[in-house]
Amino acid sequence: MRLKDKVAIITGAGRGIGQATAVKFAREGARVVVCDLTPEWIDQTVTLCKEAGAEAIGCVADVRDLKSLQAMVKTTLDQWGRVDCLVNNAGIVMDAQLKNMSEEQFDRVLDINLKGVFNCTKAVVDRMLEQQSGVILNASSIVGLYGNFGQTNYAASKFGVIGMMKTWARELGRKGIRANAICPGFIATDILKSMPDRVLRALEEKVPMGRLGQPEEIANTFAFLASDEASYINGAVIEVSGGLTI
Ligand code: NAP
Repeated sequence: MRLKDKVAIITGAGRGIGQATAVKFAREGARVVVCDLTPEWIDQTVTLCKEAGAEAIGCVADVRDLKSLQAMVKTTLDQWGRVDCLVNNAGIVMDAQLKNMSEEQFDRVLDINLKGVFNCTKAVVDRMLEQQSGVILNASSIVGLYGNFGQTNYAASKFGVIGMMKTWARELGRKGIRANAICPGFIATDILKSMPDRVLRALEEKVPMGRLGQPEEIANTFAFLASDEASYINGAVIEVSGGLTI
């Protein structure tokens, strides 16, 4: 088991990529903190982690609310005494072309996707510094590398995540803490629900592998990066897109 006894906090773990990551970490022996907004989804993920043989606790916390994140980290430390890995996965889209995008749409996406990553990392970093070890993993996107039509807000947030991650890789590397980001392509989760079917089919056509990705394929990459096998990977941006951008 690659993550035996490691303690991992995963945000947005109620469904989609976050849920798949929580279950993968559980299978690899980690103790998992399932963070999300909706109690029913959290309970479902906690149950799946336990069925995979792991210890898991759920935590309702909004990544916009530093106080609730600090409480989550306190609960984690009371329970297991350490935090080995944070997966900054929670994220949303609110798409519109620039001329139609409201300030509210811009701010909401930036608050969750960018400031939320800052908040969660702030909440764990003191403990990781005390431990002189830790891994901070971040969900960016291929949109955070190349931009995308209708996604001014999302692109800004995902470029920003990469910028913060590279800064943390520089600031924290000597303290035994690694930071990395994954840029998924198009992965079959609810986040794609707003896309018309014909657009999704056209996207699939563009992927050299001819299909969308599965949440588990991102989860596997997070698990590798969280493990000691990735001990010299720091500041990396790993695209997992089936080759969409080549
Ligand atoms: P998803 O299925 O929509 O799941 C997102 C999760 O984040 C949901 O469980 C949601 O909770 C949670 N969440 C939203 N706002 C939150 C907040 N303020 N505080 C805490 N949790 C919050 O999305 P996904 O496809 O798994 O995406 C996961 C990450 O990968 C995101 O950062 C996304 O930008 C990134 N990504 C996804 C794709 C893709 O194609 N799927 C591609 C590139 C990057 P509720 O269910 O309670 O609302």
